Amino acid sequence: MHIIDGKRISQTIKDEMKIEVENLERQYGRKPCLMVIIVGDNPASRSYVRGKIKATEYVGMAGHLIELPEDCSEERLLQEIDTLNQDTKVDGILVQLPLPKHINEDKVIAAIAPEKDVDGFHPENVARLWLNQPCVLPCTPKGIIALLDKSGVDIAGKRAVVVGRSNIVGKPVAKLLLDRNATVTIAHSRTKDLAAVCREADILVAAVGRAQMITAEYVKEGATVIDVGINRVDGHLVGDVDFDSVAPVAGAITPVPGGVGPMTITMLMRNTIDCFVAKQS
Ligand code: NAP
Repeated sequence: MHIIDGKRISQTIKDEMKIEVENLERQYGRKPCLMVIIVGDNPASRSYVRGKIKATEYVGMAGHLIELPEDCSEERLLQEIDTLNQDTKVDGILVQLPLPKHINEDKVIAAIAPEKDVDGFHPENVARLWLNQPCVLPCTPKGIIALLDKSGVDIAGKRAVVVGRSNIVGKPVAKLLLDRNATVTIAHSRTKDLAAVCREADILVAAVGRAQMITAEYVKEGATVIDVGINRVDGHLVGDVDFDSVAPVAGAITPVPGGVGPMTITMLMRNTIDCFVAKQS
C-alpha cells in the first residue's frame, strides 16, 4: 500500500512555483497578486486564510488579506470586490466561504470578475468547465487530479466513484475524472447500497463530510482512495475515510491531514499565477 503524500507533492510543486514567480517578476516587473477577503471571525475560516496567505509568501507572490466585520453589509462586500475587479495589479480574488447568513453567497461569487476568480466558483467558470472551454478550475478537484498524476495513477479507462455531489468538490472532480476518460459514478446520500457501489471503484473519492464513514467494506482490494474530508473529532482532524481499516485494503491512499488539503492551497497559487499570466497576453 502506498501513502499518497500530499504534503510532499505540494511542497515540490510550490518549490517549482517559487522559481516560476521569480522569473515572472523579472519578465513583467511585478509579482502575481492574490487578495483574500474574510468576513467575520469563524475560527476555521481564519485558519484557512492564514494558510493561503502563508503559501503566497512561500512562493514569493503578493498576498493580502482584507478583513471585514461579521456585520459587514452585502453592499460593502460587493463594493470591495468591485474595487479589486478594477485594480489591474490584482490577479486573483478569493472570498472565504462560508459568509454570514445575511450575505447572499451566490451574488458575491457572481460579482467576482471570472478572470480573477481563483476559486473557480463563478458561474461562468463552472459553465466553461462543463463545456470543455478554457476556465479557472476549482482548487480541490484540480489538486486531486494533480495528486493522482504525480502518484503515477492511470485514470483512463478506470472505474471512478465519487461520493458527494457538492458544487465545490463532488461534481467538478467527477467532471475532471470524466475528462481523463474514467468511467465515473457520482454517489450521494440517496445512493442505494453505497458500499457495493464504492467497491466497484478503482479510484474512490470521498467528499462527504462524515468522519471516517468509508470503511474497508467500501473499498476494492488495490483501489486508490482519495480522502477529501476534513472533520474535527475530539480536537483532531480526521477524513471521511477510516484510514486504519482502509489502508490495508487500498493500493494507495491519501492521509488526513497531509493529503488533499495541502494540494488545495497549492492549486490556489497555481490559479493565481495562471490568471496573472493570462492577463499579460
Ligand atoms: P457538502 O457540500 O456537505 O456535500 C457533501 C456530500 O456528501 C453531499 O452531496 C451529500 O449528499 C453527500 N453525503 C452526505 N452524507 C452522505 C452519506 N451518508 N452517504 C453518501 N453521501 C453522503 O460537502 P463538501 O463541501 O463537498 O465537502 C466534503 C468534505 O470535504 C467536507 O469534510 C469538507 O470539509 C471537505 N473539504 C475539504 C477540502 C480540502 O481542501 N481538503 C476542500 C473542500 C471540502 P446529498 O447531496 O444527497 O446531500
